[in-house]
Amino acid sequence: MIKRQLSAIKQMANNAELKEEFEKITIEGVTTDSRNVRKGNLFVPIIGEKFNGHDFVEKAFENGAHASLWSRSVPNPPQDKPLIIVDDTLAALQQIASHYLLAVNPKVVGITGSNGKTTTKDMIASVVGTRYRVHKTKGNFNNHIGLPLTILDMPEDTEVAVLEMGMNAKGEIELLSSIARPDIAVITNIGDAHLQDLGSREGIAEAKLEIIKGLKENGTLIYHGDEPLLKKDYSCQTVTFGENKNNNLFPTSMELLGEGTRFRANIAEQPFFIPVLGRHNVLNALAAIAVGELLKIGLNRIEKGLRDLKITNMRLELIQTKNGLSIINDAYNANPTAMKAAIDLVHGLKGYSQKILVLGDMLELGEREVELHQEVGMMLSEKEIDHLFTFGKLGKEIAVGAKKVIDERKIHVFFDKDELIHELKKAAGSKDLVLVKASRGMKLEDVVHALMKE
Ligand code: ATP
Ligand code: MG
Repeated sequence: MIKRQLSAIKQMANNAELKEEFEKITIEGVTTDSRNVRKGNLFVPIIGEKFNGHDFVEKAFENGAHASLWSRSVPNPPQDKPLIIVDDTLAALQQIASHYLLAVNPKVVGITGSNGKTTTKDMIASVVGTRYRVHKTKGNFNNHIGLPLTILDMPEDTEVAVLEMGMNAKGEIELLSSIARPDIAVITNIGDAHLQDLGSREGIAEAKLEIIKGLKENGTLIYHGDEPLLKKDYSCQTVTFGENKNNNLFPTSMELLGEGTRFRANIAEQPFFIPVLGRHNVLNALAAIAVGELLKIGLNRIEKGLRDLKITNMRLELIQTKNGLSIINDAYNANPTAMKAAIDLVHGLKGYSQKILVLGDMLELGEREVELHQEVGMMLSEKEIDHLFTFGKLGKEIAVGAKKVIDERKIHVFFDKDELIHELKKAAGSKDLVLVKASRGMKLEDVVHALMKE
């Protein structure tokens, strides 16, 4: 992590002031949370919607911080403390991160997209880690605060930084990309997440493509080639991956096993194995292979990196209950793309006597929410699904769509979670597979926990 004297930190932030007596103090590591201060940290007070970090500067010093930033506009800075006064603490955090990154000078891989960023980030880091010293975004630290903190946490001898870039609005990826200056930019896909804020899928695609703006000269864009909205004349080098055979990388076979997925790709003789489920994860893996190839990792190492993958947060987690029922717990988040991917996964899995979907509301989809839920229901035609349980008001719209394409007797609509759990327990037997998926806010993990108690 960053270790510098305050005189050096002052140089890294624009228009910063520091009393001479404090110049020789050394800080190690940066935090924005006064509760997580480690001895020697630089504290960065951020002004948020609910809290003003400046109120916690004293606390940060008590907890062992060696210094703090302070925004010029905030009155009454503590007099005797080592403060670096800046115009804006958040901008200064980003400037310091950007300078530190230049000093460490690793190859940078930046990852954005609607779905699969964290998964792909973990896959890339695992692949690249077979040859280089890698630093990657922890968990989901992917926004305008998390990204700089991730950079500042990077060891000085890092060779490759693998950075997740998330967004809620236009302009955010451009900012993140201008801080990170990727050598390789990855766009996993364009989905329907954030439709509410960005208006249309075109708007979403444009927002993700902002990642190119920070791309280094001679940088490469790796993107999902099946997405029409990403088909453009790029001035940078590009590599595409996807299901279609006109991509640079595409799968030639795929086998869904209980413990993971085995697949082959057009660019290699040998098969690959990933310890995660689903076709969409094969596409994420192809993006990771593309990064591996660009960084000249070699196919054997790439294969090993994918096989040894450890996922940050186990999504699409397969659980066995005591009496043998299998549950895919994906109650962490949901949007139409991810929901359809999960349904495809269940469709493709073999060896269960019944397959049951428990699907709830997908939140924050904006004005097309009803239609988007109905579309999910309509994709159930020709899928091997025995029962659909829906939960919630929007969940009901999935049932409305499903009614058009499958037997009504398979569809069960609930607004009360306990009632759903009660009926689900009656329907689900020991050889069955249950998929549970909805937006986090629906708390469908309650259903998973109830089934596990059986
Ligand atoms: P967040 O916006 O929360 O950071 P993320 O982009 O990092 O999400 P992941 O955490 O990797 O995405 O995966 C989230 C969900 O998206 C999972 O439910 C997973 O099943 C689904 N998913 C992952 N990869 C893809 C993909 N390539 N296409 C569609 N869905 C995907
Ligand atoms: Mg993520």
